Amino acid sequence: MKDRPPLPPLREVIKKHGLTANKALGQNFLLDTQLLSRIAAVPGDLTGASVFEVGPGPGGLTQALLQAGAQVTAVERDERCLPALQDLSDHFPGKLTVINEDALKIDLTQLFDMPFHIVSNLPYNVGSALLIKWLSGADWQPAWQSLTLMFQREVAERIVAKEGSSAYGRLSILAQWRCDTKLAMSVHRSAFTPPPKVMSAIVHLTPKPQPDGVDPEMLAKLTQTAFSQRRKMLRQSLKSLTGGLDALDAAQIDSARRPETMSVDEFVALARFLSA
Ligand code: SAM
Repeated sequence: MKDRPPLPPLREVIKKHGLTANKALGQNFLLDTQLLSRIAAVPGDLTGASVFEVGPGPGGLTQALLQAGAQVTAVERDERCLPALQDLSDHFPGKLTVINEDALKIDLTQLFDMPFHIVSNLPYNVGSALLIKWLSGADWQPAWQSLTLMFQREVAERIVAKEGSSAYGRLSILAQWRCDTKLAMSVHRSAFTPPPKVMSAIVHLTPKPQPDGVDPEMLAKLTQTAFSQRRKMLRQSLKSLTGGLDALDAAQIDSARRPETMSVDEFVALARFLSA
C-alpha cells in the first residue's frame, strides 16, 4: 500500500469520469475528506468490519470507510460511477466489491454471512423506503449491527423525535421500538456538490431487543390509524380499528389523548393488546 500513488482528489475523480450530478438519482456528493472521515467514524472502530454502502457515487465515503479498515460492499445504480469505483478497488485490493443495481432490490441476507454495518449518504428519493425496509419485517434481530445514514434534516428529526414534538410520528415509532436512535451530526447544505436546498443530518441506529408479544404489522397498522388523524383524540381515530377502544381500556390509556402525546412504549403496549 505504501508504494501506491495517492488517490486523486475527489473533484478530479468527478471531472475525469464526467460525473455531473444527476438530480433524479439524488446525487449530491461529499468531497470534504475530513467530514467523510468523521462520518466513517460514527459506527465505531471498523477495522476488519464488513460495511454495506448504498450509493458510493464517486467514492468519497467509500474511501473513508476503506481507510478506516472496513471491508466494503457497495451498491450503485449509476453505471457512470463504476470506473471511478474500480480505481478505488484497485487501490484497496480485495477490500471493495461494487454491485451495479438498485439498492431497493438487494436482499442483504444473501449478501453477507456475518454481521455488518450499513453506512450511507443516502439518495434522498429512496432513503426513507430503504430505512423502512431495514426496520420492518417479522424477524428481529436484523442481520445488520448498526445504521449510519444521511437524511434531509427534517427526516432525521422525525426518526429520533420524542413524543410531544411536532416531528414525532410513525417513523419515530417504527425506528424507536426496535432501535436506539441518535442524531450523530448535522451537515450543512454547503458541504455537498451541488448543494441541496435543505440541511442534512446523520442518524445512527443500533438494534435493541424487540418487545415481546407484538406483531410488527399490528404496530404499523395502529400507528398509521392513529397518526392519520393526528389532531383527533384516540377514541375517535381508533374507532376504525377492530379492538382499538378495548385496547385503550386494557392498556389504561386515557382515550381523550392525542397520538403525538403517546410514548413509543405506550404504542407498544396498545399493539400488544391488539396482537393478543
Ligand atoms: N456516497 C456519495 C457521497 O457521499 O458523495 C454519493 C451520495 S449521493 C447522495 C447518492 C448516491 O446514490 C448517488 O451516487 C446515486 O447514483 C446513488 N443511487 C441513487 N439511487 C440509487 C438506488 N436506488 N440504488 C443504488 N444507488 C442509488
